[in-house]
Amino acid sequence: MTAAFFLLQATQRSADAAQAAAQAAAQGQRTFVGIFPTMAIVFFAVFIALLLAIREPPLDSETARRIGVFGMIPAMLFTLLSGGIQSPAVVLVALCVLAISVPHGPGMAFVGALAAFTTLLGVEGIRSRVIVWAPAFVTAAVLVSTAVIPRWLAGRVFRAVDAANRRVAQLEEQVAQGRVRPAAERPREPGPTRLESSVATPLITYLRMLRDIVGADEAILWRHDPRSDGVLVPVAWSGDDPDGPSTFRSEEWLPLVTWAADNEMVNFDATGGFPSLAAVSVPPRIGAVAGGALSVSHRTGMRVDRDELKRWLPRHADHLADMLALVESGDEVSRQNTTTLALLQAATDFQKSRTVNSLGAEICQSALDVTGAAHAALVRWDADARRGEVQATSNEAPVRVGLVITDDSAVGGSCREATPLTWEDARELSRTAIVYGRAEPKRVVQSLGVVPLVRPEGVVGAIVVEGNEAYRVRGESVRALRLLGAIAAVSLESQFEYEEIERRARTDALTGLSNRRHFEEQMERLLDECDRYGGPVSLVVADIDHFKLVNDSYGHDTGDVVLQIVAKVFRDGVRTVDIVARYGGEEIACLLPQTDLQGAREFAERMRRTIESRPIPAEGREIPVTVSFGVATYGGDPPVPRAKLFSLADRALYRSKEQGRNRVSLHEATGD
Ligand code: GH3
Ligand code: MG
Ligand code: MG
Repeated sequence: MTAAFFLLQATQRSADAAQAAAQAAAQGQRTFVGIFPTMAIVFFAVFIALLLAIREPPLDSETARRIGVFGMIPAMLFTLLSGGIQSPAVVLVALCVLAISVPHGPGMAFVGALAAFTTLLGVEGIRSRVIVWAPAFVTAAVLVSTAVIPRWLAGRVFRAVDAANRRVAQLEEQVAQGRVRPAAERPREPGPTRLESSVATPLITYLRMLRDIVGADEAILWRHDPRSDGVLVPVAWSGDDPDGPSTFRSEEWLPLVTWAADNEMVNFDATGGFPSLAAVSVPPRIGAVAGGALSVSHRTGMRVDRDELKRWLPRHADHLADMLALVESGDEVSRQNTTTLALLQAATDFQKSRTVNSLGAEICQSALDVTGAAHAALVRWDADARRGEVQATSNEAPVRVGLVITDDSAVGGSCREATPLTWEDARELSRTAIVYGRAEPKRVVQSLGVVPLVRPEGVVGAIVVEGNEAYRVRGESVRALRLLGAIAAVSLESQFEYEEIERRARTDALTGLSNRRHFEEQMERLLDECDRYGGPVSLVVADIDHFKLVNDSYGHDTGDVVLQIVAKVFRDGVRTVDIVARYGGEEIACLLPQTDLQGAREFAERMRRTIESRPIPAEGREIPVTVSFGVATYGGDPPVPRAKLFSLADRALYRSKEQGRNRVSLHEATGD
């Protein structure tokens, strides 16, 4: 009741107010219900409009529509009660229209605004029978500017936001599928190519440029890989994938690329107008190891036709060949830097070696380090004799120490000419020619490099490296080996000199036989071995008969010549394991390992007869020379005390002298 009464009163009041307003309007004045409520309503309206313009948060479109629907009735009532069509509360109605239109669009806002306007106009017409058009226009303008225009503008904003959201979602999906890499994850530069060198970057840049010019999706530089019978392998490519080209259809296209490389012509895969593949050979250059091919390809077809590709590609291939040669020389420089360290190490190690054999082993190992070859040998070369000998080898080398290097072999030829040689593929060479020397066993050498060791006096030796596969020894690694060779030659020469000094220290200068000191050392060693392993050692001592007479009759110099010739007979007559020494003035002693008394006697007899049968020519005359011998055996029967071996042989010699000289006497059990 109270509410009804209040409503009636309010209606009455607003009717009065409307009447007053109508009168005022008729008199050209504008009246408002009150300035403060009006302002409050406007601010509220602007606030709601802002909220609605931003869909979420705080309002989603369905909530906005509900607010609009439920707010419409009180807003209408409030408007009608506060002056109808002239009331500022029209703004509330307009806002409700706007809210309702949120999920529907500007069309709905227009229809809603029209409905509200018509209703207000209708109620006004019924109530006052007079329609004041000026406030009606204001109301219409309020409805349009508050509901229709904002909804239309909001629609545009929503559409733009929607489009942006859709694009983001699309990108996210592509990222998830890996089709697009976010910028931060993209690799800055492609990883190492098969060229294994940072200096390959200019090649990659060039290939990318070429790819873009011809409208290809991939440009690839191919090389003949000598390690796998010259098949083409990609060494640089335009793509980002460090593992290799990504769109090249190998099965279909590689034969075409190979054909182009082999025939030095441009080759295509083109069924339609524009080729999907074009390939051309890349010519080899000085400094580059091998030639190869250049290919450009596109899944469906490139931008340029065959004629243009035919004209352009060989030019690009030529340019790439030059770049490749440059890249490889740069590559070699960096490789040589690492080699230099190995060489410095080698130079230090070489100084530590005390014998030619240990130095030889060091040189062989360093040669393997520098070249990456499988086997190495150090050869000693005698330039005058034009022959050499394997001095040392790396472990499990296919050649043996002591193998004679002949002049007519590949290694001998390199030494003779003082020229380094490389046979990257030595298989044919080893089938048709001598590699080391005539005595070498028949076998196939896969890959060979020879670096002669050159000193001012001539070639002193050579370093030989062998690869266990063809092309394992490369020209550039043999070039690095030359540096090692230079260091090794100096070390080896000093070592040879050192050993020469040592040799002289144990050799008698006049006869070239061992001297007494060395003889005694060797005798100790041989008797030790005999004690340990058993077996006899025989000692033969010899003394030239009436040598004083030779000196007296022909002079001391002739005596020296006689001594030298007799010494040579002994040197030529013994085995390599025997030791011959000038023991005293004209006394010669021979140690014969693994020789019993009878064997030693036969040897002494042979020497005696040889000397007797060869009178020595001197000063136009022939001097007859004879020698007396005494023989004793250690480790045989009869047993001889070690310390008495020499004196027993000497005593036997004395007997020979006693019994008329030029004879052989044995120490026998019965003899002493
Ligand atoms: P015998 O048959 O008894 O051995 O008589 P012999 O004259 O050889 O006597 P003996 O062995 O005692 O003489 C050794 C001589 O050899 C003494 C020395 O003048 C000589 N002689 C030693 N060393 C050399 C040398 O280097 N050169 C020369 N020409 N003579 C030497
Ligand atoms: Mg004598
Ligand atoms: Mg003597």
